[in-house]
Amino acid sequence: MKILVLGGGGFIGHHLINKLVAEENTVHSIDLVYPHYNKSKAHRFTIGDLRNPALFEDLVDEKYDQVYQLAADMGGAGYILSGENDADILHNSAMINLNVAYAFKGQPQVKIFFSSSACVYPMHHQENANSPNCRESNVYPANPDSDYGWEKLFSERVFMAFARNYGLNIRIARFHNIFGPENVYEGGREKAPAAICRKVAIAKDGDEVEIWGDGLQTRSFLYIDECLKGIQKLMESDFTSPVNIGSDRMVTINELAQKVISISGKRLSIHNITGPEGVRGRNSDNRLILEKLNWKPDNDLDYGLKKLYFWVLSRIEEDANEFVSGVTGGLNNE
Ligand code: NAD
Repeated sequence: MKILVLGGGGFIGHHLINKLVAEENTVHSIDLVYPHYNKSKAHRFTIGDLRNPALFEDLVDEKYDQVYQLAADMGGAGYILSGENDADILHNSAMINLNVAYAFKGQPQVKIFFSSSACVYPMHHQENANSPNCRESNVYPANPDSDYGWEKLFSERVFMAFARNYGLNIRIARFHNIFGPENVYEGGREKAPAAICRKVAIAKDGDEVEIWGDGLQTRSFLYIDECLKGIQKLMESDFTSPVNIGSDRMVTINELAQKVISISGKRLSIHNITGPEGVRGRNSDNRLILEKLNWKPDNDLDYGLKKLYFWVLSRIEEDANEFVSGVTGGLNNE
């Protein structure tokens, strides 16, 4: 197939491209940046700003079989919950999604995947750490806890309206905390698993690891390979309504940190500090995806965390060695 991956410089897009290329598809990607840690395997990689509608003018004649829309202005809790980036998040991501929906209207032969988020779910269903309610049908009345979530909900509606009125052939997944090697682990946009791995990787025996909030807030985490299988199942199906792709095995953030500490083999303790926490509890409700697509993740959190931890550790050790030997330089993606 001929496939366009928007946001192929990002974490999920980069892994998705690896898989699509390995399966012998021809892949074109567009992003503001090349992948951060490894060269992209895309056959063609365009550096471009998807907020610009002119960028799409030539794309409609490319006769893609599939388009994956993964580009977004996003980050972890430190980025999306601080309140300091709300205008950019709403403006940038909505512009991208409006452009994508508009560009492919009237082309039902192109399957378009849109990456929505667990952040669309209302705050009032996520106040209890032990029993959050993230069933797809409970997304309305809407009350997301962040403008990032509001934008995703708005853009779901954009894609669904374009499907209704202009024949867009859509699939929509609501991802729940996808993690794995090549997650950003520093710089302010990192998410909890990679941030915790970084803190543990740089800690020494006897140190404390700082965790935001009281650590009893709950989340679920899905390993990237499982996520890619879920995406594939969805794209192969005829199911066009938004559906969760996530793990339904909740852990507290302190449990997550404890797992990483155990993997590291270090003697560390957890110190809970004030920081952005988000909703009290969040978990993927997988009843719909099991019923419609017969998909469920294997839920082995430790397996994925080991991969992520040792990847982060090796990066940090490499950086330290380069610092010592004075080697500098970046990736050449050209
Ligand atoms: P990411 O931030 O790693 O990747 C997003 C990519 O979009 C980045 O490479 C960025 O440069 C690109 N981008 C942003 N603005 C752009 C623009 N104007 N023009 C071109 N490219 C632009 O994020 P990710 O983790 O790979 O997530 C992919 C998608 O899945 C996003 O839409 C995200 O909101 C959604 N999602 C991810 C998670 C998760 O846990 N990773 C959870 C829920 C939803």
